[in-house]
Amino acid sequence: MLFSEFDLDSRLMKSFGHFGYEHATEIQERAIPEAMAGKDLLASSKTGSGKTLAYLLPAVHRLYTRKALAKRDPRVLILVPTRELAKQVYATLRTLIAGTRFSSILVLGGENFNDQHKNFQKDPHFVVATPGRMADHLKQRNVFLEGLEMLILDEADRMLDLGFAADLRAINNAANHRRRQTLFFSATLDNTDVNEIAQELLHEPVRVAIGHSQDEHQDIKQYVYLCDHLDHKQALLEHFIRSLTIKQAIIFTATKSDTVRLAELIGSWDVRTGSLNGDMSQSARSKVMDDFARGKFDVLVSTDLASRGLDIASVSHVFNFDIPKPAEEFVHRTGRTGRAGFKGEAISLVGPKDWFNFKDVEEFLKRTFVLSKVEGLEPTFTGIASKRAPQKQAKPKNKPKPKANKVQKKPVARKKVVFQDQTQQGFEPFRLPKKKTQQDV
Ligand code: ADP
Ligand code: MG
Repeated sequence: MLFSEFDLDSRLMKSFGHFGYEHATEIQERAIPEAMAGKDLLASSKTGSGKTLAYLLPAVHRLYTRKALAKRDPRVLILVPTRELAKQVYATLRTLIAGTRFSSILVLGGENFNDQHKNFQKDPHFVVATPGRMADHLKQRNVFLEGLEMLILDEADRMLDLGFAADLRAINNAANHRRRQTLFFSATLDNTDVNEIAQELLHEPVRVAIGHSQDEHQDIKQYVYLCDHLDHKQALLEHFIRSLTIKQAIIFTATKSDTVRLAELIGSWDVRTGSLNGDMSQSARSKVMDDFARGKFDVLVSTDLASRGLDIASVSHVFNFDIPKPAEEFVHRTGRTGRAGFKGEAISLVGPKDWFNFKDVEEFLKRTFVLSKVEGLEPTFTGIASKRAPQKQAKPKNKPKPKANKVQKKPVARKKVVFQDQTQQGFEPFRLPKKKTQQDV
């Protein structure tokens, strides 16, 4: 379907022309007309399939075509779980409303509260915010939401995982009038917490689901390697980084301290590397993301802070240095590659401590992964046969995993490398010089 067929406001179509997209993706084709008709939506589709425009286009259209309910209150509020994602969504919104009478502000935790208060006094039409800080401003009566026409939750399930349910409810209560339209978007919307809050926040929602969250992503090749211990993981990582044709990579780790430690290690292999975690100052976080997006460095080591929503076209590889506890984060982490029709590869390292998380991922995806091996770096670990006691998976509260214990060092001999498919169409790769001498990590 062509975007020109949606009957979007012509002024919006003009600014949208800036993106150069003619054909809508499936989620856009299905969600945009429902949202334009004023319906509440529970919308899901795979990572990288264009959900952002699926809600931003109807939101801007609404402002052009309907009268405001109140003079001063924001008309559209978009909530997302992380500051990095908020900035990205804000940038897309700014392109859509550039040169119009519509104004917008960004309201993030970690940034100056008083400046944000002043920005609210300018009566912006759009607010893009992280939920905790938005709820703080409501509490302080810096903003009122009686006139809010559209409440949009992107990565709705993650905001619940992170413990924002109370803030979401407070925001919902402040904007609780019948003419409000509410949209939930994510690649994974099928958990019970989402259904619960959806019942409170959404009014007779239309469910728009393109595929299932468990469906195999056709543009992402998955590889899984068993590992014996930390040193083995690091040796494999070094092998991949040296031998694969990588344009940019994101390496996900469970702990904040691991992001720093691994970034230093990878940096010592002469690879331009940065780290991102929630302990960093806001300015440091912003700088790392800007530099990575601009290609100033090639490998980003991050916690799950970067697992949701971030859209960087040149990420050709994602590494799971360990396996995330909430199984759906596996989908989101690996979904940082293979976006908008590009191909990507995801490589997951599974050690003894990851085993049960890995099994949860397989269960969630209803899939059994083929295990790959690198010649010379074969594992002795073959999995854990004994069944663990049935255990309800605890809801993640953004708690870092305990730091990996020091494992006994086992020198791993490295031989000639046999790796599977290394083709990366559409990517301009960087290549590390192959190591001349073998060296234990
Ligand atoms: P999602 O939220 O589903 O993970 P995004 O909204 O971040 O995906 O979009 C992924 C990428 O696809 C972005 O770079 C976006 O600009 C691009 N994109 C969005 N819609 C289209 C389209 N109709 N055609 C081509 N590319 C698109
Ligand atoms: Mg998104």
